[in-house]
Amino acid sequence: MKKYILPAALLLVFETVAITLWLTKNNLFYLLNFSYIGISIALGVTLYIRKYPHARRVTQLLVGCYMLVYLGLICRENMQIEGFWYYLFTGVFEAATIHYAVAKVFGPLLFGRGWCGYACWTAMVLDFLPYKQPKQPRKRWGWIRYITFVLSLVFVSALFLAHVGNLERIMFWAFLIGNGLYYAVGIALAFICQDNRAFCKYICPVTVFLKPMSYFSLLRITCDSSKCVSCGKCKRVCPMDVDITDNSRSRANGTECILCLECVRACPKKAL
Ligand code: SF4
Ligand code: SF4
Ligand code: SF4
Repeated sequence: MKKYILPAALLLVFETVAITLWLTKNNLFYLLNFSYIGISIALGVTLYIRKYPHARRVTQLLVGCYMLVYLGLICRENMQIEGFWYYLFTGVFEAATIHYAVAKVFGPLLFGRGWCGYACWTAMVLDFLPYKQPKQPRKRWGWIRYITFVLSLVFVSALFLAHVGNLERIMFWAFLIGNGLYYAVGIALAFICQDNRAFCKYICPVTVFLKPMSYFSLLRITCDSSKCVSCGKCKRVCPMDVDITDNSRSRANGTECILCLECVRACPKKAL
């Protein structure tokens, strides 16, 4: 049973958040929402432990589809970064602000970029593309993320400064158009760079939060150097170009790790 401690602990964390928000906000939605996400993640980790090869994808599809279709399209919540700014400016600690606090700002201190590996609805689609392992060297385009980050902030600030009416409706359309744009750019970039995760590496504005917070992540993969034979397999299969054999926090592309566990699966010496 020892091997199931991790999924149980993850479920416990999500249930704690679910119950706390349910009771403090007096809203049953939070209990159902975070319980569903916690169960999906615990299921994925359990399947991985039981050596099911598509375990991560199961969680990614369960959570990603739920957030995109149910929360985004049916409940009309803008869970993208524009939605986060919008709720932040209105002073409402609901929906996107809670989502960002848990998944993208404070959560990464605990589980790093688990969001990117197991829940993001943009990557959920990009991960179906043919370049699971990058076929080209990493490019120096990471600065683009700061531009998209600032643009998202300027867009929402401008709506507030111009006192534009019907903001709820505008934010819903921003969600639809923004998602369409992300998918189009993400898919085009994946083929240009021959790298499914090129969008995550260079464009995604959310990484401005994710990267510095995940630097301090409690949950991280480490390498047992006494077992490692420097075969390089882990680096070859990594979609994010992480030097996982280096245990320091400043390892190459360390804040890019999405905890997909491809390196762990590939290591012939079980050193990771
Ligand atoms: S980097 Fe952005 S697009 Fe990629 S998985 Fe993370 S949140 Fe999603
Ligand atoms: S392959 Fe390993 S180092 Fe690379 S992103 Fe996945 S878990 Fe992180
Ligand atoms: S795959 Fe395993 S043995 Fe090979 S370099 Fe990576 S950690 Fe070392």
